[in-house]
Amino acid sequence: MVDFSSLQLNPVLIQAITELGYTKPTPIQEQAIPKVLEGHDLFGCAQTGTGKTAAFLLPTLNFLLETPQSTKGRRKIQMLILTPTRELAAQIGENCQQYAKHSNLRHLVVFGGVKQGSQVRALQSGIDVLIATPGRLLDLQRQGYIHLNDVKFFILDEADRMLDMGFLPDIRRLLALLPKKKQNLLFSATMPKAIVTLAQSFLTNPVRIEVDPESSTVDQIEQKLMCVAQSDKKRLLTSMVSTDEVRSAIVFTRTKHGANRVVKTLLAANVTAAAIHGNKSQNARIAALDGFSKGKLKVLVATDVASRGIDISGISHVINYDIPNISETYVHRIGRTGRAGLKGIAIAFMDQEEVVDVRNIEKLIGQQLDYDTGHDWHCRRAQSELNTQRQRGYKAPKESKKSGSG
Ligand code: AMP
Repeated sequence: MVDFSSLQLNPVLIQAITELGYTKPTPIQEQAIPKVLEGHDLFGCAQTGTGKTAAFLLPTLNFLLETPQSTKGRRKIQMLILTPTRELAAQIGENCQQYAKHSNLRHLVVFGGVKQGSQVRALQSGIDVLIATPGRLLDLQRQGYIHLNDVKFFILDEADRMLDMGFLPDIRRLLALLPKKKQNLLFSATMPKAIVTLAQSFLTNPVRIEVDPESSTVDQIEQKLMCVAQSDKKRLLTSMVSTDEVRSAIVFTRTKHGANRVVKTLLAANVTAAAIHGNKSQNARIAALDGFSKGKLKVLVATDVASRGIDISGISHVINYDIPNISETYVHRIGRTGRAGLKGIAIAFMDQEEVVDVRNIEKLIGQQLDYDTGHDWHCRRAQSELNTQRQRGYKAPKESKKSGSG
């Protein structure tokens, strides 16, 4: 069995990960670390929870540690990590802090929604690793605070989500600002065509690494489908999360207002809950995440954008209050549970209007979701509509976005 010592990492990194209690590399780390150390570009298909952050941070930090650094002048940005959301950026920053804690490498996390003053001061003092969301990064670059000419590693994390969020033009702008000669790593949880095209535009002979998302959904997460009319969803949710079986749950809604409404309902039923979404201030989001991870809040209600990159272990339930109409989003959502080998439960609330979306999800994950009819609000019409669609086979609706598979 491979262990970290056989991966030839710098002793300060080994010391850090040993202190964190990592005993052996995860499959993606086992595959990616040697290839990145050899200097290859990488095209990785993996979700959060697989250990992908260490898979890209350890070998790249290793390079920075082993390369003699100029002692003259200010430090230059040698590594750029681009992420879609602030939460993910902050989380990668935390990991960077942990792994590099016995070194003198400096990193900085920049994202929008907060004043730029302290970010600018840190940039002016010189950093080695920059972790950023696209908008603020370009903003600071335009103002002349960020110079990208010395970047040796460019890492694009959660690329599919970047595209979903409309960041493609920003990514292209950034690529044009980066040196041609550099090592590029791209990670994505799903591989729709647009991602493959993007990868081809800047990766050179990449090594392709895949950690099968299907097996993680099948093996560690129990997926259930509850048929329920939209107007009954609040009652069903309240009754479910009030039981002891649900220890901690993330509830996904399609809209910010929907998230607020669900929180209101839960609070009225004495269930501790908070929402995270784009309209919340950074501080409110941090407080909600903190309260949730410490167990003070039983339920976190989130929109997809805000939930990206949340890494909290021990989430017992993921509840799809609304069914996402982009099937890949379902895979991202349920990946919040069933982490680190623990069993998780994912429940989807399906109204009659959402049957087509469920059918698309079933096609993507290659399995039919099991009905859970053991509740007071079971909607027979939605169930029979789905049964009909299943019998008819799969037919893609025109407006729906889905992966390339047939
Ligand atoms: P990620 O997929 O990068 O979000 O990582 C998920 C979680 O796994 C994080 O909390 C990491 O600290 C943890 N982790 C990463 N690699 C290992 C490892 N080799 N052993 C144990 N935990 C790990």
